Amino acid sequence: GTFSYKFDTPTFKGTSTFPTGLFINGKFVDPVEDATIDVINPTNAKVIGKVAIGSSRDVDIAVKVAQDAFDKSWGLNVAGSERGKLLWKLADLMEQNADELAALEALDVGKAYSVARNFDINGCIATLRYYAGWSDKDHGQTIETDENKLAYTRHEPIGVVGQIIPWNLPLVMMCWKIGPALATGNTIVLKPSEVTPLSALRMCSLVNEAGYPAGVVNIINGLGSTVGQAMSEHMGIEKIAFTGSTVTGRKIMEAAARTNLKNVTLELGGKSPNIIFDDAEIEQAVKWAAHGIYFNHGQACAAGSRIFVQAGIYDEFMKRFTAHSQALTLGDPFEPTTYQGPQVSQTQFDRIMNYIDSGKKDGAKVHIGGGRHGSEGYFIQPTIFTNCRPEMKIVKEEIFGPVAVVIKFTDEEDVVRQANDTAYGLASAIFTQNINLALRVAHKIQAGTVWINCTNFPEVNVPFGGYKQSGIGRELGEYALRNYTAVKAVHVNL
Ligand code: NAD
Repeated sequence: GTFSYKFDTPTFKGTSTFPTGLFINGKFVDPVEDATIDVINPTNAKVIGKVAIGSSRDVDIAVKVAQDAFDKSWGLNVAGSERGKLLWKLADLMEQNADELAALEALDVGKAYSVARNFDINGCIATLRYYAGWSDKDHGQTIETDENKLAYTRHEPIGVVGQIIPWNLPLVMMCWKIGPALATGNTIVLKPSEVTPLSALRMCSLVNEAGYPAGVVNIINGLGSTVGQAMSEHMGIEKIAFTGSTVTGRKIMEAAARTNLKNVTLELGGKSPNIIFDDAEIEQAVKWAAHGIYFNHGQACAAGSRIFVQAGIYDEFMKRFTAHSQALTLGDPFEPTTYQGPQVSQTQFDRIMNYIDSGKKDGAKVHIGGGRHGSEGYFIQPTIFTNCRPEMKIVKEEIFGPVAVVIKFTDEEDVVRQANDTAYGLASAIFTQNINLALRVAHKIQAGTVWINCTNFPEVNVPFGGYKQSGIGRELGEYALRNYTAVKAVHVNL
């Protein structure tokens, strides 16, 4: 089949057309068992197309093809500089098609077109270029031993890697994954989220155009319970890199443990604390707190969803944060003034509404918001809860929507204890003008990222990942290369 959509919007005009099959061995093919899923526009809940979805049999085929490509036309057969050139070319092609890619992302996810264009697509391009640079620079070590031996290490590609990504930032997650995997010489079987299958399909022809040998990148749309599960269990996949929920991460590790003990890295959920001390620069704190929780409509793993505000600044912060939240424009993602579009799906809409209900039932106070916005699509008002207690579900669990809980605190020790009172440990933020306080607290927080006087903004050359149940391993930066390489030690007896 083919997907075709005519965009006639204030921010993007043009038609996007591409095949909707499975992308295996450099070609679009039909799944072994004929099946499709609907693609839904979250702005109005209308079906805008269908894409093919695979099954475990298609995974078998793709893994075989990827193994073949690894052995014959990729892996150790291609010089690092050549891999770098291809990644750079792919980045150039994304840049040439950036407006269309952004439009597809805005359509499928429901995010503002300007955000998709400036944050998502530019971030993707930067990520591919960053890893293009690493392609010929990831060297091992030389080690002299006491036994008069010389040893050296090689960073070898793992082989066929499986990559499973979520719907909140489809292309960003794809590039965080394929960038380091291709730079280090692996071949890939990637499954996009069934909620947002479009942009990955559009990328397939760019992969061919860039000049990748057939079978190096294979993309199979499908359900988590079938394609995702088959990948996690597959004996021919040596590694799974996953981004998504903690529940699914657990299933993937179980599948890996039951089968070939494949290496697993996980980027999971969060309930990140955002700590605002009395001496914070208030306008900055308000601006960033809003970005922390409302960016991507709260559908960000690093969202600053627990906002801790010190007693002395609390009233003033709440006044300004409330005004800021109420001034955000909700609407069509393609209107230039839109800040916040719809949530991604009916499922997510219901899930967030259930959390809002549970907060009310548990006795928290809806300070603002708490309801649907408009009459169609999956829009939810920016929502702030106060009067929260630590045992409430809205304080403990990841809501993944534009819903903040604000908690007043008194002193440093108290807030560090509360901030760390969570099963998660993905990210955190601290607002203060006191450098000693900032660094002292930064070192006490159990999280993979601490942002000081900013938040919710990963950088391509800085590692990103979770403590505790937020994950295993790090993406981005040099650290991500370790997700996709096996270290081989060679001993030479002198
Ligand atoms: P999800 O876990 O439901 O789905 C993620 C992916 O896993 C999808 O492609 C899905 O099809 C697949 N999947 C589902 N069941 C599977 C199974 N049994 N085996 C294998 N694969 C399976 O998550 P989601 O709803 O798409 O995304 C939201 C979650 O992702 C949030 O919890 C969020 O925090 C997390 N997330 C984390 C990061 C990060 O970097 N830490 C980034 C983005 C999103």
